[in-house]
Amino acid sequence: MNELDALYQQIILEHAKARHGSPLAEHPAMSGESVSAQQHNPTCGDRISVRVDLDSDTVTQLAWEGEGCSISMASASVLSDLAAGMPLPELARLTEEFRELMRAKGAQVDVPEDLEDAAAFAGVSKFPARVKCAMLSWTAVEQALATRK
Ligand code: ZN
Repeated sequence: MNELDALYQQIILEHAKARHGSPLAEHPAMSGESVSAQQHNPTCGDRISVRVDLDSDTVTQLAWEGEGCSISMASASVLSDLAAGMPLPELARLTEEFRELMRAKGAQVDVPEDLEDAAAFAGVSKFPARVKCAMLSWTAVEQALATRK
C-alpha cells in the first residue's frame, strides 16, 4: 500500500467511526425546510436515512443515520461535513464530481480539490461492488432534494 492509499484508508476508517451528522436524534431539524429519503444497497446490506435541512437554496445541515460497511458510513460522514452551508447548485456540482470519480474504474484521475475528504474514496472506483456503498448517501441526498415542493 502506498502512502496516499494508507492516508485515504485512515480517513475512511476515522469517518466510519466518528460519523459526523449522525444519528438523526442528536441533530434535530434546523428551522426552515427539511427533506428526507432512505436508501438501501442490497448488494452490501447498507441502509441509510438522510435528512437535509435547508434555508431557501442552501443546506444548513445534513443529518443521517444508518448501518452498513465502513465505506458507506464514512461517505455519509464526509458528505455531511461537505454539504453544511453549501448552496444547492454547488452541492449538485460536487455530487457530479464525486460520481465521475466513482466511475474512474481505478484509473488515475485528477481528484478535484473541492471534494476534500471525499477524495479518500478515489480507490473505491477499482471495486465496482463498493461504488454503490460510496454513492449511497449522495444518492439519498439527491432523492431527498427531488422531493422538494
Ligand atoms: Zn457497503
